[in-house]
Amino acid sequence: MIVLVINAGSSSLKYQLLDTTTKKVYAKGNCERIGIDGSFIGHEENDGSKQKLEVALPDHKTAIKHVFDILAEAGFDTDKIEGIGHRVVQGGWYFPESKVVTDETLGWVREVAPLAPLHNYAEADVIEICREMFPSIGNVIVADTSFHYNMPEKAWRYALPRDVVDKLHIRKYGAHGTSHRYIWKTTSEFLNGDVHKLVSCHLGSGASLSAIEDGHDMDTTMGLTPLDGLIMGTRCGTIDPATVCYLQRVGGYSVDEVDTMMNKQSGLLAVSGVSSDSRDIEAGAHNGDANCQMALDMFYYRTSQLIAEMAQSMHGFDTMVFTAGIGENSAEMRLGVAKELEWLGVKIDEKANEVRSDEPRVISTDDSKVKVLVVPTNEELMIALDVEALLG
Ligand code: AMP
Repeated sequence: MIVLVINAGSSSLKYQLLDTTTKKVYAKGNCERIGIDGSFIGHEENDGSKQKLEVALPDHKTAIKHVFDILAEAGFDTDKIEGIGHRVVQGGWYFPESKVVTDETLGWVREVAPLAPLHNYAEADVIEICREMFPSIGNVIVADTSFHYNMPEKAWRYALPRDVVDKLHIRKYGAHGTSHRYIWKTTSEFLNGDVHKLVSCHLGSGASLSAIEDGHDMDTTMGLTPLDGLIMGTRCGTIDPATVCYLQRVGGYSVDEVDTMMNKQSGLLAVSGVSSDSRDIEAGAHNGDANCQMALDMFYYRTSQLIAEMAQSMHGFDTMVFTAGIGENSAEMRLGVAKELEWLGVKIDEKANEVRSDEPRVISTDDSKVKVLVVPTNEELMIALDVEALLG
């Protein structure tokens, strides 16, 4: 099935056109700075050719129109697109699994939007535009929270007053669920089913872990929002929640300032004082920058602590997978995290860890108590497979 996958943000729209049978990606790209001066589309085709088109993108509708035009100009018969898959950041309590777009399901994306206002409203608008512009193509909503929705109540419930959490729908929703689901599927295929208790480590600029037992999510590190859990590129991860009140009461920061501080000015960026990008931080640490070294040390410490927490939620783990930008590319950071877990019997084969590849691979030693793998994630393919399952 030929599927267009769309990942819309408030001022961006990523797209990928792929075939679920051959897994071939025909084209992909990103419309950036929608509604802002200096908008452009970065477009890439499967032969590696790239182009940057500087075009006015006053709104998402114009961006989608351009995407279809670019695909047509590149020789793709856009009439062959059989389904559109939409990544939705927050599915709330309505999407324990992916769903076909109808008036009702689209309404649900908007109803839960207060939980992720920066994303859900834009995503809902884009879904509506696609329905209007291409009425013959079916649309599917794939929520990043779905995979986590049915984790045990003791894992998702917050110990806050019941009337408050019920009224405001406060609970652990998690995120990166589409990636974690893909990691489970690919790892169990790669290991011929010889995996039962897996800790999936999605380590990118956003980062989260998922404890997956026989395909079921048992716990995850992100919470009501993607701010919780690991130290990330610019997010602080778990801190004492009273810090939020203290910053406002004593520090004099407004709600929005605290929100921006914790989401955009914290994490690796804040500790290193250099960058949110792990490559810059690794380089800084190699050159003797103590703050960069501390950023790495804290990342290894917190990530390994939370891996152990995920393992605890399954009473053990037999497999651990690194994925996403850092997990797939940084041998140094994989080793740093794994070394902290040696006491649990995790042993990395340092030579295998250095191998670069786009394929799943084992990087632990034969006598490691936990099998450690690197598995490149592919959220777009997972979304497209859901579209095929629901519309195919
Ligand atoms: P993602 O959000 O999954 O795209 O991951 C982005 C992050 O991955 C970047 O901010 C970098 O920190 C990290 N990253 C990407 N490529 C490399 C690399 N070759 N070595 C180290 N870190 C990398």
